Amino acid sequence: MRLYSTKNRSEFTSLREAVLRGLPPDNGLYMPESIPALPEPFIRNLKDYSFQDIAFTITKTLFQGAIPDEDLRKITDDAVNFEAPVVSLNEHQHILELFHGPSLAFKDFGARFMAQLMSYFNQGESRELVILVATSGDTGGAVAAGFYQTPGTRVVILYPKGKVSDLQEKQLTTLGHNISALEVEGTFDDCQAIVKQAFLDEELTSRIRLTSANSINISRLVPQSFYYFEAFKQLENQENVVFCVPSGNFGNLTAGLLAQRMGLPVQHFIAATNINDVVPEYLESGAYTPRPSQRTLSNAMDVGNPSNFARMQDLYHDLEERSTWNNMKASISGYAYTDEATRKAVKEVYDRYGYVIDPHGAVGYLALQEYQEKNPGANGVILETAHPAKFLPDVEAILEQTITVPERLAVLSDKEKVADLMPPEYGPVKKWLLEHLG
Ligand SMILES: *Cc1c(COP(=O)(O)O)cnc(C)c1O
Repeated sequence: MRLYSTKNRSEFTSLREAVLRGLPPDNGLYMPESIPALPEPFIRNLKDYSFQDIAFTITKTLFQGAIPDEDLRKITDDAVNFEAPVVSLNEHQHILELFHGPSLAFKDFGARFMAQLMSYFNQGESRELVILVATSGDTGGAVAAGFYQTPGTRVVILYPKGKVSDLQEKQLTTLGHNISALEVEGTFDDCQAIVKQAFLDEELTSRIRLTSANSINISRLVPQSFYYFEAFKQLENQENVVFCVPSGNFGNLTAGLLAQRMGLPVQHFIAATNINDVVPEYLESGAYTPRPSQRTLSNAMDVGNPSNFARMQDLYHDLEERSTWNNMKASISGYAYTDEATRKAVKEVYDRYGYVIDPHGAVGYLALQEYQEKNPGANGVILETAHPAKFLPDVEAILEQTITVPERLAVLSDKEKVADLMPPEYGPVKKWLLEHLG
């Protein structure tokens, strides 16, 4: 398997290099040179395969021998060790629960797979691998859990002060061991900019073996395609299937597009956002206008310049910009909602179905409703990206009742937070990295 950068489609790199580097030197994003289709009988008989079989088959097909089958099977088996059940609200609205992993969010899938793959590729290296990550909430918790005590790795997480929930913060700051947290006095976009700058800093990268774990890493993206197949498999009615994806950096949605390219018969995708709506706006107008993110109830989607947009454009690439736009909007519809609408949706889903949905999933619910008004035949699957208990005070206030916190999250509230405070600038972060890891 070879990969190119979205900024240069004529130079290629190996899977190992793409996984360990995270970001190409030209600041584009890695994409697979080819996206082969899965064997047709496999897709037809999905029901005969376990989630782990699906993960293995997708990876084997995509990686094209880059990792021997035996090693790959071990990696995918280890990575996919919790389920992704589909719960039906009604005949045409289903919820894919992606929160059954250690950090209660879909990012556990990517983080676990990436930890396995990086550890595999780092075998035989003398220097430890430093994973530098910016998080708007959930990435950090998943990465921390995924890499915790993985030999030969160190994780440094940057998160925006006061902009993640208490429990999210505990997930980042209480593990210790090979996991460190930096609390940045700024926004998620500041954190992301600092991380990007670190990767482009040759002085730093010559002294520290640095890699990324954000959704920009190709090894985060690939496993997120597994559960689109897993969800499809569980649907009784497999006609007119539409996936509705609550989105921030658009890694999850891009992984869905990958699944479709590999042969999953998806009719359409819905990109659901909060008021940070640059992608719905692009789909509507053809103009892409990144801007600073605004804080919302669905804070893991507060992204003003989604990194995976470059990959989406690449997947629909055409020589003419206008054609790229036309291609993309033929496959993806975008909708955006305010916090007020989101609150109402959380309540509506509970009142109608007795289902407690989190604010991110609720944005997805709204988008699916709106899409289905114009497309009544659509059979919609909403990706429920996190467990509602991750956003406890908000969800409890909306529903006016208490919610049970899963044990694996509940134990965190008694643990002590350990984090170093940082201004929203690259310099001090670089200094910290050199002092602690150089
Ligand atoms: C990260 C996250 C999202 C956004 O996912 P992207 O792949 O960045 O679009 C949505 N919901 C939750 C709960 C998340 O943690």
